[in-house]
Amino acid sequence: MQRHKNYVNGKYLDNRTKECFAVINPATGKQIYEVEIADDTVLNAALESAVKGFKAWSAMDTVNRSRILMRAVSLLRDRNDDLARIEVMDTGKPFQEASTVDVVTGADVIEFFAGAAPGISGSQQDLGRDFYYTRREPLGVCAGIGAWNYPLQIACWKAGPALACGNSMIFKPSEETPLGALKLAEIFTQVGVPDGVFNVVQGAATVGQWLTACPGIEKISFTGEVGTGKKIMASAASTLKDVTMELGGKSPLIIFEDADVDQAVSAAMLGNFYTQGEVCTNGTRVFVHTSIREKFLEQLLARTRANIKMGDPMDPDTNFGALISSEHKKKVLSYIQSAKAEGATQQCGHTMPTLPSQNQEGFFVPPTVFTDCTDQMTFVREEVFGPVMAVLDFDTEAEVIQRANATPFGLAAGVFTRDIQRAHRVIHQLKAGICWVNAYGASPAQMPVGGYKQSGVGRENGLETIGYYTQVKSVYMGMGPLDSPF
Ligand code: NAD
Repeated sequence: MQRHKNYVNGKYLDNRTKECFAVINPATGKQIYEVEIADDTVLNAALESAVKGFKAWSAMDTVNRSRILMRAVSLLRDRNDDLARIEVMDTGKPFQEASTVDVVTGADVIEFFAGAAPGISGSQQDLGRDFYYTRREPLGVCAGIGAWNYPLQIACWKAGPALACGNSMIFKPSEETPLGALKLAEIFTQVGVPDGVFNVVQGAATVGQWLTACPGIEKISFTGEVGTGKKIMASAASTLKDVTMELGGKSPLIIFEDADVDQAVSAAMLGNFYTQGEVCTNGTRVFVHTSIREKFLEQLLARTRANIKMGDPMDPDTNFGALISSEHKKKVLSYIQSAKAEGATQQCGHTMPTLPSQNQEGFFVPPTVFTDCTDQMTFVREEVFGPVMAVLDFDTEAEVIQRANATPFGLAAGVFTRDIQRAHRVIHQLKAGICWVNAYGASPAQMPVGGYKQSGVGRENGLETIGYYTQVKSVYMGMGPLDSPF
């Protein structure tokens, strides 16, 4: 069995305890490799190297830093398909997606921040005789903690801005999907990122807890569940670390009576079935105006039955893969059970399609659509994080805005209408950080993303993020004698 290790100070490092965890291919249910857990030796070495790495990296001219990161972008793109295959084996998502989205969008974000880095600057203001200026300085050693749905992309979305701003990073991928981040670390070393600037430590919650409590770490950037985010913020508070929290959601997708129904169906399918439903911004509460309900449902069900190809994720025709784990599959199935028990009508997803023999043990759940849903049903209120769509009817604009906002989450929202004034009016009233009009799911590097309410703190991507990986130093310059009563 192949064994992977932690990546510290520009190379792989053995742990002392020899403890490992197993990684399973979700499409087959079989173990594919094992990974050494970061013990105290590894974690202390990672911190020591990140401190050293920070010194060298933050002192480097920003144009040079940018040039090195751009070389990493090229290598990521050169190795697109190999990296995509790793993501498919770890996550169970289709190669069709991983090879066109996961690596590409990871590389885009590093490229965006590498391009922006030389432009990071402070300001200066005259105060009569005296003046002050500000410097935007890096924070120091940052920690990134990732979820399993977009492992390499998440590592890139955290490393890109952190490193471009001059920080070093210790990254902990999800224990379900540990390989992508190691490949990113290898690439950084290969292109000349100094040793210690990007380290990868492996393990589950205890390794994450070590990072969040560690006094030498200045910031935690976390992607994961709301409940975990709360624990991490509480732990980070003990040393007053800066935090960025990219958490879960239960986002509304609102389809008005004047919408292009074909486009709205595409959005509902993208926002519920892409990555077999394991996307944080998914529009899982699909509010459809009563007057177009039948037309919408007819198209939705016909296209779901005809166009979704669930199966071996490496097959280029497959566009719908396996859920991450047996445990997660059980959780998703229990939400489907609860939906039925609470009175929703299941329109599709009743039976498991026949899959090639090697996939019989995989963690597949077919695309599932429910109608006759109410806002109070458990699966309509809670994040399922699987391919389970709730179709809800509405009559008026005021009603749908109120219902869309009646949730502790606030990650994303979508509106479909041809009425431009209504589009803006509604979007401006929705309490969500990422909104789409006549679109769903696109997340370009330039656009800041993050949650309102319990869906997050801070932002990733876009120029705003530079503010989250730097701190402002004000320098007052006295140009004459001090005015003092003493
Ligand atoms: P999770 O919260 O279970 O785990 C995320 C990471 O946190 C893992 O690396 C895990 O090992 C680590 N962790 C767990 N307990 C910890 C603790 N006490 N201290 C420190 N680290 C700890 O989330 P998941 O199941 O991996 O991912 C799915 C969730 O992620 C969903 O809720 C989804 O909405 C969310 N998500 C959000 C975004 C976003 O950008 N908003 C993106 C992707 C996923």
